[in-house]
Amino acid sequence: MFESLQERLGAILNGLTGRGALSEADVSAALREVRRALLEADVALEVVRSFTDRVREKAVGAEVLKSIKPGQMVVKIVHDELIEMLGSESSSVDLNAAAPVVIMMVGLQGSGKTTTTGKIALRLTTRERKKVLMASLDTRRPAAQEQLRQLGVQTNVDTLPIIAGQSPVDIAARAVQAAKLGGHDVVILDTAGRTHIDEPLMIEMAEIKRKSNPHEILLVADALTGQDAVNLARNFDDRVGITGLVLTRMDGDGRGGAALSMRAVTGKPVKLIGAGEKMTELEEFHPRRIADRILG
Ligand code: GDP
Repeated sequence: MFESLQERLGAILNGLTGRGALSEADVSAALREVRRALLEADVALEVVRSFTDRVREKAVGAEVLKSIKPGQMVVKIVHDELIEMLGSESSSVDLNAAAPVVIMMVGLQGSGKTTTTGKIALRLTTRERKKVLMASLDTRRPAAQEQLRQLGVQTNVDTLPIIAGQSPVDIAARAVQAAKLGGHDVVILDTAGRTHIDEPLMIEMAEIKRKSNPHEILLVADALTGQDAVNLARNFDDRVGITGLVLTRMDGDGRGGAALSMRAVTGKPVKLIGAGEKMTELEEFHPRRIADRILG
């Protein structure tokens, strides 16, 4: 187990009680621990740097209140700043557009895109009473289309009939057309992933976007992504333009630093959290909870 940040900072700072304001040296010592805690939580290095700079600005010269220990005070500054950077607003999937509202799911292979497509479809169907159509655009792995079809059966959500030989862009167009004809409120496009970001993937995503005019483009990423999170989020955002993030596998041991990294480099909100393999294991994003988890 990691020692909590509170304990570490207490050990460094709590001898200062009664000394008035936090000095530059006190804050620097504390920030070394903050930096360690964030790196252990898998926050990307460049984000750790900008975060600790922001905390330094707030903490140096701050008066230590008599009622709390200096260590606690710095933890509070860190915690508040973390929540602010994670985005204190809680935003969910935005359906505020003419039907059928197109949601495009993007991300690397194995990130949990197909699973999350099913989860979102189930949630919109049961909680918001929307009529949803799901379509798999993954023509590279025939099993992927079948996987989504089975999720449709399991969740009782419509899936676009599979036609062999169609291109992803053509499937996207057919899905939107089918949703119009079928009176669906929402169509979710589950795009193909790759094991890593490459040019053909980005071109394919941009083309699907152009053809289907999605209202939401959600980047699905594994919570354990670590230092790669920055590259991943920046690439998809620059090349395709995402509207939000979904972090999967938050039921695992990871501390979820990728949430902070991806939010920080894109400015796009984390909209949902995947917390298990079951279709119901999808949660709203609570910045406070993630902040607690990152700090340990
Ligand atoms: P895709 O290649 O991005 O479509 O990924 P899949 O949706 O096929 O997911 C890959 C694996 O991750 C599957 O075994 C899923 O059951 C699993 N998975 C997806 N989301 C979660 C999650 O939030 N928690 C856990 N524990 N497993 C997940």
